[in-house]
Amino acid sequence: MTDFEPPLRLILDGDALAANWKALNARSGSALAGAAVKANGYGLGAREVAARLRDAGCRDFFVAHWGEAAAIADIIPPAWISVLNGIQAADIPHIRALGTVPVLNTPEQVSIWRASGGGRCHIMFDSGINRLGIGPEQMSQCRLQDIDVDLLLSHLASADEDSAQNEAQQRLFREHAAAWGAKRLSLANSAGIMLGADYHYDLTRPGLSLYGGIARSGMGAFIKPVARLSARLLQVRTLPAGAPIGYNATHVCGNDTTVGTISIGYADGYLRAFSGKGSAHHGAAALPVLGRVSMDLVTIDISAAPELREGDWVDVEYDLPTASALTGLSQYELLTNLGTRFARNWR
Ligand SMILES: *Cc1c(COP(=O)(O)O)cnc(C)c1O
Repeated sequence: MTDFEPPLRLILDGDALAANWKALNARSGSALAGAAVKANGYGLGAREVAARLRDAGCRDFFVAHWGEAAAIADIIPPAWISVLNGIQAADIPHIRALGTVPVLNTPEQVSIWRASGGGRCHIMFDSGINRLGIGPEQMSQCRLQDIDVDLLLSHLASADEDSAQNEAQQRLFREHAAAWGAKRLSLANSAGIMLGADYHYDLTRPGLSLYGGIARSGMGAFIKPVARLSARLLQVRTLPAGAPIGYNATHVCGNDTTVGTISIGYADGYLRAFSGKGSAHHGAAALPVLGRVSMDLVTIDISAAPELREGDWVDVEYDLPTASALTGLSQYELLTNLGTRFARNWR
């Protein structure tokens, strides 16, 4: 622990997070919405995210790794936590002790679970993403006696697009679902919720849109931003016309320019894709990024905000769909890149 205040902040809106879950739950029709909180709650902080979603009414939490389950198992009842990336025999004692629920992804994992005592589990059926899960041709290899399948999941590959693959996956899932004898069925991620009632089944699994991501057009009407970035000005200086800025001098000042250097860089997830493209703001004043993003520093043009002084804070523009269009990074990458040096301040 340290008493130093980090010079960069993620300002996180807990009410917006809860409102996003409630909106996605409402749009899931008769299904309940769960929540994907893997990858440290998409970069925002798994424990803080999970506690707020629990209080909002969420009862199904999805992580990828067992370590991620252990990290929230004292604040979320273990039976509510599902581990997406499957099991290995060597981990069984820890898994049983933790009491969170495995998603079995292969016939081999089904055998391991049965041999270790069986009981409640989930199954991932691969309906066509061909990534992780039991394919239709492998179902005959799975012996389900002594196995209590709570949730049968499948994952959509192209829900963010108007693709024929969506309907194909949905039909295949519907066709094969009954054979597993699962108590509950789940297909839709954030974007899948928008595909309509055929995709909702019993439980939806939004991730991105809980955190303010616009997974499909139209969601902007009801999804609120959750994270804002703010960074401290470390230096203010006026440079003469002709002065180069940053690594490889990719920007050269056209006029005398008042510049500020802020405490954020690619080590914080503000990747070099923002070089010469990103911006900060102070009130209504836009402060464009000049030159390359460095590991810990970014130089911005602060001519539009002459009141700024060293030590002041500026907001770094990070609207997810806008930043995605600007940089070519996905909204998922923009969130999960956010590093460990931010103070994560929940409001
Ligand atoms: C990450 C993940 C989700 C959440 O997807 P979003 O697109 O972020 O809504 C849902 N289901 C599975 C299996 C996942 O891996």
